[in-house]
Amino acid sequence: QLDPTKLKAFENAAAGHDGVLLDPSGELLIKPCTQAEIDFYQQTQLDHPDFAGLMPAFMGTLSLGAPAQATDAVGAHEILATAQAQKDNGTKIETKTAIVLENLEHGFTHANVLDLKLGSRLYDAKTTAPEKADRLDKVASETTTGSLNFRVAGMKVWNGRSFDIYDKYYGRKFNADNIKDAFATFFAGLSTSLELDEAAELLETIEADISKARHMLERSEERMYSASLLVIYEGDSTALDTLMGGVPKTPRVTEKAPTLGEVKQSEDDEEEEEDDPPVAYKVNMIDFAHAAWTPGQGQDENVIVGLKNVEKQMDGLISRLVE
Ligand code: ADP
Ligand code: MN
Repeated sequence: QLDPTKLKAFENAAAGHDGVLLDPSGELLIKPCTQAEIDFYQQTQLDHPDFAGLMPAFMGTLSLGAPAQATDAVGAHEILATAQAQKDNGTKIETKTAIVLENLEHGFTHANVLDLKLGSRLYDAKTTAPEKADRLDKVASETTTGSLNFRVAGMKVWNGRSFDIYDKYYGRKFNADNIKDAFATFFAGLSTSLELDEAAELLETIEADISKARHMLERSEERMYSASLLVIYEGDSTALDTLMGGVPKTPRVTEKAPTLGEVKQSEDDEEEEEDDPPVAYKVNMIDFAHAAWTPGQGQDENVIVGLKNVEKQMDGLISRLVE
């Protein structure tokens, strides 16, 4: 059961608002959100399970600082208990609806994270106040949002001792001609951690995953304003090298065949430990505060063009990493 006093702040978000929490294990992320975002997660899980594969796993919702409400998803009873306990012990928290998601950074030693905000128009024209629309259009016209249908909303990169943080103003200063510099900065760790062929392979695999995401969108009828493509890769040099099958720097203990008892034991361990094995990278879509399924309206060109341009930036990026 979760101890509410042990929920901790999610440090170093690549972009976005404060107020995101983690459960003590670090597997779950609790993010204050809009009803529209909850609706989008629930509908996608029910009606578009393939698309849900692009998104962080959705565990449920909870009401922070108010009578608990949880959906029937995995772990919801624990979350309910958390919210109830917060109420019982009188912890003063603003009443907010939050969404409980898989923490995509979980399992990485040091997650390098790139948040790319997709679309040239970042608001729903039907529901957005003119002042806000004008403000967003102005930023769009001054950034790669307008020219490439995406911009770097933020990123964090492990430098061996701490994270280098690139905030939203960093991404706003690029144009279509120099945005590749941002990608080169984000992916620099690949060439310092890996042999060139491995770095190239990983870049191609990530680009292929972005193409797959785009193909999913091309088969979908939704509208997403201000959603992001979140690209994560392992920032820890040794961990990344090991994941990519590099020669371990310290020799492994000589392996001998396990006894039957040892086999049984390791099977038991596996059952207890449901943790997914670590991966070198992840590509996901996040941030659905202004997203909705819109059957009959065709493809979401606004976002699809952005993904195509992200893929173009990834093409040939490897040559930039060895300069
Ligand atoms: P906002 O509306 O504040 O922009 P986002 O959903 O974009 O909210 O989240 C903000 C930041 O939090 C992202 O840039 C990313 O770094 C991090 N984040 C969001 N969702 C997850 C997740 N499921 N796992 C890991 N990090 C996440
Ligand atoms: Mn965001």
